[in-house]
Amino acid sequence: MPNTTPTRALYMLFGGTGDLALRKLYPAIFNLYKKGSLSTHFALVGLSRKELTDEEFRAKIIDSIAAETENQAQAEEFASHFYWKSHDVTNLDHYQELGKIADELDKKYETNGNRIFYVSMAPRFFGIVAKNLKDQNVLSENGGFNRLVIEKPFGRDFASAKELNDDLTSAFNENQIYRIDHYLGKETTQAIPVLRFGNPMIDAIWNQNYIKDVQITLAESLGVEDRAGYYDTAGALRDMIQNHTLQIVSYLAMEQPNSFIDTDIRREKVKVLESMKIYDEQGVKDNFVRGQYGAGDNTPEYRQENGVPEDSNNNTYAAGKIIFDNPRWGKTPFYIRSGKKLADKTGRIDIEFKKPLVDIFAKGTNQPAELQSNVLTLLIDPKIGISLDINTKNSDQGFHTETVDLNYLQSDDRAAEVPLPYERLFHDILKGDGTYFASWPEVAAAWKFIDPVQKLWDNTKGDFPNYKSGSMGPQAADDLLARDGNAWYFPNK
Ligand code: NAD
Repeated sequence: MPNTTPTRALYMLFGGTGDLALRKLYPAIFNLYKKGSLSTHFALVGLSRKELTDEEFRAKIIDSIAAETENQAQAEEFASHFYWKSHDVTNLDHYQELGKIADELDKKYETNGNRIFYVSMAPRFFGIVAKNLKDQNVLSENGGFNRLVIEKPFGRDFASAKELNDDLTSAFNENQIYRIDHYLGKETTQAIPVLRFGNPMIDAIWNQNYIKDVQITLAESLGVEDRAGYYDTAGALRDMIQNHTLQIVSYLAMEQPNSFIDTDIRREKVKVLESMKIYDEQGVKDNFVRGQYGAGDNTPEYRQENGVPEDSNNNTYAAGKIIFDNPRWGKTPFYIRSGKKLADKTGRIDIEFKKPLVDIFAKGTNQPAELQSNVLTLLIDPKIGISLDINTKNSDQGFHTETVDLNYLQSDDRAAEVPLPYERLFHDILKGDGTYFASWPEVAAAWKFIDPVQKLWDNTKGDFPNYKSGSMGPQAADDLLARDGNAWYFPNK
């Protein structure tokens, strides 16, 4: 049960019949409702150009939450809070009409004037919606809060992200803006600060003296599917690395915040992201690898997929090495990689510790060196868990060491109870907690790091395809680690 009174609010969802809204957002809001984390004093206005009646919209809601529904009457009661307004985001009259509807629903549902504007539309609309909401007086002025929720992607590079941010901040303050990164709603991401700052034995060794390298893998087994229109202009670097991967990096690498409140945490995240070494052209060539998938067994290469140009220069795989210019991590590389059509669908973090300076067991017994690095693995998805490779004695005849895996894997039953990322994030927005959202300075630092890589890749032709569908990516990504005397831990060990 929630330990605070749920917040009353009116939600306005732009893109109310879009894919994301129907597949993720409504089920998430419904789950909160079932758990009593959503105030019964709520209403949601769905918005897009479609002409729908409230009844038609409610039928879509009931459909979209079907998998979460155990009690039909409850689902219908939930859906009765939903209203439809046909709305073109460029039509100013429509905002005025929306303002009137919002005032009426505020009164009807006694929402205390609290308003949440969720923009689940193509990114080119984010700025226009924010500006028009303010200019046409849709923002609450009765002492309630106004919060703006923005989907990804947040820009295509630093310049466009800044332009978008300027548009948003002309209407909303930074602390009213919630930039969604659903990886921050995942259980394992949220557990990183507890692992680090709740366990002195881990905290004490969380630095370059003990950690040899950190590896973050966000691998997808699917290809581009039907998203070529978007993906061929984005690629793995923009779609997965700039946002999700670097956000995970920030939680792994940041200094201990003064407290676990969003302003303190964001300060540390920004600091560490700003300490990533930004590469010049040669640095990009030396430290980043791009890939595009070739054919697999009975599957086409990327350039033969629906909607993909035959000469596409897009990266469906990106790997890189982050070097921090700070005293904690100066000598520890963070390797990151993400791609489509890889051998496995997995999100994981492998933290490799240094071996002892001397393997006394090999020395004393004339056995070959057997001690392995301790590796701490955090599983993000599909499994949630944590494991630690540790050296111990093998119990067979003679004296040998062996590496065993201390393993905590969340059971499927328990994992099924873990709230979905959108459910957690929506709950945080209601509470006004920005801990697991990307702040503007973080987004800016991430783009400044990514821009030189993207620029070089845009301006030079990739030697594509360069990895087989169903493999773990291009050979060059293995070579990147090998040059440092390292190797990808997954799936090799
Ligand atoms: P979508 O195309 O399915 O939905 C967009 C919505 O905007 C539709 O309801 C459409 O009717 C409406 N719309 C378009 N033009 C309009 C206009 N001029 N005026 C009013 N309404 C208009 O898109 P989606 O897949 O739901 O994605 C929404 C956002 O979420 C995007 O920013 C996307 O990048 C992000 N996102 C989506 C997913 C996903 O799984 N679908 C995942 C991560 C992020």
